[in-house]
Amino acid sequence: MTTPSTIVHVALHTPSHSGVGDLLSYASPRPLAPGTLVRVPLGKREVLGVVWDAQEATGELPEGAAMRPIAGVLEGLDPLSQPWRRLVAFAARYYQRALGEVALAALPPQLRDLQPDQLARRLRRPPQGTAGGNASNAIEAIALTVEQESVRARISSESGPFLLFGSTGSGKTEVYLRCVQEALEADPTAQALVMVPEINLTPQLEERFTTRFAPRFGSQAVVSLHSGMTNPQRLKSWLAAHSGVARIVLGTRMAVFASLPGLKIIVVDEEHDPSYKQQEGARYSARDLAIWRGREQGAKVLLGSATPSLETWHASRPPTAEDPEGGRYVRLAMPSRIGAGALARVRRVDMNQQPRRAIFSAPLLAAITERVARGEQSMVLLNRRGYAPVLHCADCGWKSDCPHCSAHQVFHKADRTLRCHHCGYTVRVPRACPTCGSPDIHSMGRGTEQLEEQLGDLLSEVLRPDRTPARIARIDADTTKARGSLEAQLAQVHSGEVDVLVGTQMIAKGHDFRRITLVAAVQPDGALFSSDFRAPERLFALLMQAAGRAGRDAAYMAAQGTQCEMWVQSFHPQHPVYEALRTHDYAAFAAQQLKEREEAAMPPFAYQALVRADARTQEVAQGFLTAATAAAHAAALPGLEAVTLFPPVPLTIQRVANVERAQMLMESSSRAALQRFLAAWQPVLQVTRSAPEHKGLVRWLVDVDPLVI
Ligand code: ADP
Ligand code: ZN
Ligand code: ZN
Repeated sequence: MTTPSTIVHVALHTPSHSGVGDLLSYASPRPLAPGTLVRVPLGKREVLGVVWDAQEATGELPEGAAMRPIAGVLEGLDPLSQPWRRLVAFAARYYQRALGEVALAALPPQLRDLQPDQLARRLRRPPQGTAGGNASNAIEAIALTVEQESVRARISSESGPFLLFGSTGSGKTEVYLRCVQEALEADPTAQALVMVPEINLTPQLEERFTTRFAPRFGSQAVVSLHSGMTNPQRLKSWLAAHSGVARIVLGTRMAVFASLPGLKIIVVDEEHDPSYKQQEGARYSARDLAIWRGREQGAKVLLGSATPSLETWHASRPPTAEDPEGGRYVRLAMPSRIGAGALARVRRVDMNQQPRRAIFSAPLLAAITERVARGEQSMVLLNRRGYAPVLHCADCGWKSDCPHCSAHQVFHKADRTLRCHHCGYTVRVPRACPTCGSPDIHSMGRGTEQLEEQLGDLLSEVLRPDRTPARIARIDADTTKARGSLEAQLAQVHSGEVDVLVGTQMIAKGHDFRRITLVAAVQPDGALFSSDFRAPERLFALLMQAAGRAGRDAAYMAAQGTQCEMWVQSFHPQHPVYEALRTHDYAAFAAQQLKEREEAAMPPFAYQALVRADARTQEVAQGFLTAATAAAHAAALPGLEAVTLFPPVPLTIQRVANVERAQMLMESSSRAALQRFLAAWQPVLQVTRSAPEHKGLVRWLVDVDPLVI
C-alpha cells in the first residue's frame, strides 16, 4: 500500500442534516486537481465524490480520527471545471442546500455506480458515426425576416442578457438556431445550452436542432438531457457534453448543471414556464441559474417568451427619464407573426347568459362545428383531468374525499375509479353511497374526460369535408403515461387525423400545429380568484400560449379563407385578464400587474423565501416554525432587521398522504439581507428540529424565490 501523501477535500452526498460538514477530507497517494471525480469510503459504503477546492473546506476532522484513503480515481475524465464548481457552490448556498448534495445531483445518476474500470471501458468505446459535418449537405437556412434579423444582429453585437419578447409564431426558434450557429461557428470548441420547459412536449424542437446542426457539426453534435431518458442515455449525453464532443445540449431544467467547458451561449425558451423551478431537493430556478452561469462563464444568455415572467419583464425595462438605468437585461421585441399571419381574434362568451349547466355554449359549439365541416382543427382546453373532480350523494351529502388528504378523489370514468391526484390513493367507484347506501350519487364539475365524451355526443352528426364523422382526441397526463404515447398522439394531430383535440395545459405549450384555427378555454375562471398572487400571470400566459397554437400557418389560413379565433367562456368576461387577452396586450397586462405588485411590495419588488414544515399534526408543524422564529429573534440573527417573518399557516392543501403541512413566508426588499438571514438561520433550524418537543416533525425545507406561496 502506498503511503498517503496528500489531503484532498471531497464533496459527496452525505445524509442531509447529518451534521457533517460540506466537504470531507481523505488521504490520497498523489495530489488531485479540484474537479477530479473520485470514489471514497463513507461509513460502510463507497460513494462518488468530487475533489473540491481546499480553501472551501469547512469540516474539521474529529480529534484523533484517522483520515481514510480515497478508494479510486475516475481516470480518463477531465476534472470538472472551476466555473462548474462555482455554479454548484453558488446554487447550494443560494438555495440553502448542502454543497455535496447539489454537486452529486448535478451529475448523471449512473456515474455514481460505475467503478473506475467500468468507466474506463465506457470511455474507450468509440463514438458511433461522427462523420464530420459538411455544411453543404445541411438544409440551407431560411432567410430571416426583418424583425428576426434586427434581433439577431443585436444579440450578436451586445452582451445581454437578452429577453426575446416575441409573439407566438414570430419565429423565436429560428432566432435561437441562428444565434447558436453563429456562436458555434465562431469557435470550434464553443458549446451551446438550449433549455426548454418539458422536452417531451416538443419533440419537434429536438428534430429542428438535429436537422440543422448534425450536418454542420457532426451527428454527435446535438445531445439531450432530461429526466425522460434512461440512465445510460443520460450518462452518454453528459460525457459527450463534458468532453466537448457535443456542441449543443438540449435539455430541461436539470441541463443547467451540465458540464459544458466551452459554454458560449445559453437559450432559455419559454422562460416564464413554472417547470424551470425545481420543486424538490434544492429548489433552484434553472432560468435564474442560467443568468448567473452565463455571467460567470462569459456566455450570452437569451431568454425567450411571448408572455415573459413579470420578474424578467421588469428586469428588462428600458431606461426612462425617471429610471435612467433601466433594467439589467436587454429587451428585444418581435411583435409580428411569420408570413404576416394574424393573432387569434378573441371571442368572449358570457356564461351568465347561457343555460346553467352547459359546458359548451351554443355559439362555441356552432363555431367548432363549422371548423370541422371545413376540415380545420380545433383545440379545447380545460385544466383538469379526469371525468369530474368529485362524486356527491344527493341524499346525505357524502363527497368522495380522500381519506389521506384534504382533497377530493377525482372520478375517472374510463376505469371506474376514484383517484386522489395528491397521494395516488385509488378505489373502485362505489355503486351506492358508502355512507347512507343511496344509489343517487352524481359527479359534480367536469374534467377533460367528460369534455371528450360530451363533444363526442354533440358532434356525432357532424361530418368532415370527406363525409367521415368528426374525430375527437384527448391529451392529458392520463392518456400519455406510456412512453412514446404523447409523441404518437401529437403525430395524429399533426397529420390531420384529429378534428378536435381536448386537453390540459399540455396541449397549450410550444407545439407548432399547422391546421388549428380555433382554440377554446371552456372554464378558465377558477384562477381569477385564487389566493396565489401569481395566478393571474399564469392564467394570462396559458391563454396567450393557447391562443398562439391557432393560425400558425399563414399560407394555410389564406388558402382556407379562414380566421383564427380564441374563445373564452367566462362568468366574468370583462375581467382585466380577458380584456388584455382580447387585445393581445401583454405589455398592458404586465404594467397593471407590476403596479399592483409594487404597491403591495411583492416580487419582483421584494424577495421571498418559505420554510415549510411537515408533521403528523398541524400543531407540531406550526410549533416548529414558531419556535424557530422565536430563536431567530432571540439570537438577533444578521439580516433579520431587513426581513419580515410572517406567522406560520397551513398550506392550501393542508394534509397530503396523512402528513400535515405548514409554512411561513419571509420577505425583504433586499435579496442580500434575506440571503444573510437564511444562511444564519439554517443552523438554528437544525438545532430547533432536534428539540424533543418537535419530535413529530417529518421534514422541513427552505424554498428561496418560491413560485407558489
Ligand atoms: P415561435 O417559437 O416564435 O412560436 P417558430 O420559431 O416556431 O415561432 O416559428 C413559427 C413558424 O414559422 C415555424 O414553422 C418556422 O419554421 C417558421 N419560420 C420561422 N422563421 C421563418 C422565416 N424567416 N421564414 C419562413 N418561415 C419561418
Ligand atoms: Zn349518502
Ligand atoms: Zn390523497
